Amino acid sequence: METLNQSQLNEELLQDEKYLVFFENENNCPLCGTDLELSYDSNYQTRTVRESAQCPSCKIQIKSREFAIQ
Ligand SMILES: [Zn+2]
Repeated sequence: METLNQSQLNEELLQDEKYLVFFENENNCPLCGTDLELSYDSNYQTRTVRESAQCPSCKIQIKSREFAIQ
């Protein structure tokens, strides 16, 4: 049935949209939309800064990534 192919295509498009939405709303909680609290932990021994974002309402950690200090 041709509807099967269409639904598969729609699923792929939907995943792409979620991917884009995630980056567009990078500073807002994806669950409730609250502004995320960003925190930075400097580690001078490894010369990295760890950035983490937490939603103050849901208490979930959204992301965590490390930057190298020049
Ligand atoms: Zn939230």
